[in-house]
Amino acid sequence: MTAGATDAPRRLRFALVAHDDKKAEMTEWVARHVERLSRCDLVATGTTGARVAQRCPQLAPLRLKSGPLGGDQQIGAMIAEGRIDALFFFVDPLSPHPHDVDVKALMRVALVYDVPLALSVATAEFVIAGMIAGPISPGGPE
Ligand code: PGA
Repeated sequence: MTAGATDAPRRLRFALVAHDDKKAEMTEWVARHVERLSRCDLVATGTTGARVAQRCPQLAPLRLKSGPLGGDQQIGAMIAEGRIDALFFFVDPLSPHPHDVDVKALMRVALVYDVPLALSVATAEFVIAGMIAGPISPGGPE
C-alpha cells in the first residue's frame, strides 16, 4: 500500500446536462437527491451547472462550457477517458437544438462506453437509486 492510500471507495462522478425546457426538472431532481449527490463529484454543462449551483449551492458542480459551445463534447471526452460514472441528460424532445449533432455524439459515446445514461427524470430515479443508497429529500434541500 502506498503512503496515504486508504480503503475509502472512490467518489462517483456524475455528469449533468439539461436542455433549456428541462432545466427546472433537473434542478428539482437534484434538490430531491441533494444528500446522495453531495457524496459524488458532479460536472455539468455551463448553464445547467449554474442552475444546479443556484438551487443547491452545497453541490457546486464543476462547470464546463455551455452545451452548444462545446460542453457536450467536453463531457463526451471525459466519458471516453473513463472519468464519468453516469450521465444524466434531460433531453427536450419537443424543441429543435442547433447543437443536435453534439447531443447525438454525447449519447453515442455514452453507449459506446456503456455508461449509465438517464434521459429523463423517470430513468434518473432508477439510475441514482441503483448507484447510491440514501434518503430522498421530497421537498429539496431547504
Ligand atoms: P447548457 O447546455 O447546460 O449550457 O444549457 C445544455 C445543452 O447541451 O443543451
